[in-house]
Amino acid sequence: MNIQEYQAKELFRAHGIPITEGRVARSPEEAREVAAQVGKPVVVKAQVLVGGRGKAGGIKLAQNPDEAAERAGQILGMDIKGLTVREVLVAEAADIKHEVYLAILMDRRRKKPLLMACAEGGVDIEEVARRSPEKIVTLPIEPDYGLQPFQARQVMLKVAPTPKAGLAMARIATQLYEVFTQEDCSLAEINPLVVTPDGRVLALDAKVGLDDSAEIRHAEMHQRFRQPETEGEQLAREGGLSYVKLDGDIGCVVNGAGLAMATMDLVQHFGGRPANFLDIGGSSSPEKVTTAMRIILSDPNVKAILFNIFGGITRCDDVARGIVQALGGMDVRVPVVVRLTGTNEEEARRILDGVHLSATTSMDEGVQAVIARAREARG
Ligand code: GDP
Ligand code: MN
Repeated sequence: MNIQEYQAKELFRAHGIPITEGRVARSPEEAREVAAQVGKPVVVKAQVLVGGRGKAGGIKLAQNPDEAAERAGQILGMDIKGLTVREVLVAEAADIKHEVYLAILMDRRRKKPLLMACAEGGVDIEEVARRSPEKIVTLPIEPDYGLQPFQARQVMLKVAPTPKAGLAMARIATQLYEVFTQEDCSLAEINPLVVTPDGRVLALDAKVGLDDSAEIRHAEMHQRFRQPETEGEQLAREGGLSYVKLDGDIGCVVNGAGLAMATMDLVQHFGGRPANFLDIGGSSSPEKVTTAMRIILSDPNVKAILFNIFGGITRCDDVARGIVQALGGMDVRVPVVVRLTGTNEEEARRILDGVHLSATTSMDEGVQAVIARAREARG
């Protein structure tokens, strides 16, 4: 489970990592109050679980409480990569002299935590990794010994602008490792970790992923940090389907997680953007299909829907009945494209003929067709 920046910063604070003073706000009024409390220029930051909020216009500076309220009004309700902003963090604005990158993550290949640091901070680290991987310093951490202070110093002195900042950053790296292990994280990232003109070192951003398997050890925290469910997520949980919303406009209903991943890849390959991952599972009853349709239609970004069914245990005729039921009982305002093959395929085609839907057997054709329909719908 990924948590919001203000939640991650609560963990940082508890482990001694220096952050700027601030609080979460859910209305322009609240933003004004927080800014008044801070009593200095503030930064208003969209709280959504995606990176690149700055570039998307979700981070704005404000000189005084009135301006903070105005900025919060602009950011709240904003759509950032398919997510609606419901909360903003209002925090003291820092002056930035240097930005570095610091993270601890689980290195699955080595099966141990990895410390990662880079003198280029504040930018997309994946981009740095592509462009100049030699700039990224890494250190595998032995869990039996933990991150030793001398190791943290060795790494952070390489990326810090001055030895003094390097020592402060080494302490922060040790504290971040404490967050990582004690709170059972899969990722703890600070980007940027900044040095101010007066030489203070501060975590300006915070990204933390909590290991879901460790929920039993942090039940209270996990419950408190859990995001409220969207309509789609609630329908998926109640219907026993796995659903992950994405920021594209092509809804995908697929049986089996592997095929669902392959479908998303193929949509991307042919120039489309998947709106979701949705696995309706093995033995799919018509009810599961109608639920799937309801979930997908709860996302206003969806412009066209692709059913991609490989009939094995799943019977194609069951899925076809579900599609007919959904089209009959629901207000389906977007085109539906069906690709199916396998068990009871002929029967499925007969059923779909009844509602003037033709189903292709080719996955490539199905994906290309749904991308074309979405493009038409976009106009
Ligand atoms: P992200 O874009 O989602 O990673 O959000 P960040 O919290 O990393 O902020 C993006 C960028 O906004 C940072 O790299 C900074 O350049 C800028 N920024 C964020 N907070 C402050 C601040 O307190 N003061 C100043 N001057 N810039 C800030
Ligand atoms: Mn950032």
